[in-house]
Amino acid sequence: MSKNEEKIPGKGIQFCPSCAHPLNDPKSILNEYWISEDTAYFCWCKNCSWKGDIIKTTRMVAPELV
Ligand SMILES: [Zn+2]
Repeated sequence: MSKNEEKIPGKGIQFCPSCAHPLNDPKSILNEYWISEDTAYFCWCKNCSWKGDIIKTTRMVAPELV
């Protein structure tokens, strides 16, 4: 956990990954949920209409890094 996340508990995602619009805009959607032990955020940006899930993983598993 970084120092930035400690300042705002539960808000690991603050900006749209597409256009960097703040996701704390009341017209955007930032919904926190959990998949097993991972924290996931469903995001929808009202500025550029980007939507998707951002998952904060505790452990990364990959067969091979290229
Ligand atoms: Zn956006």
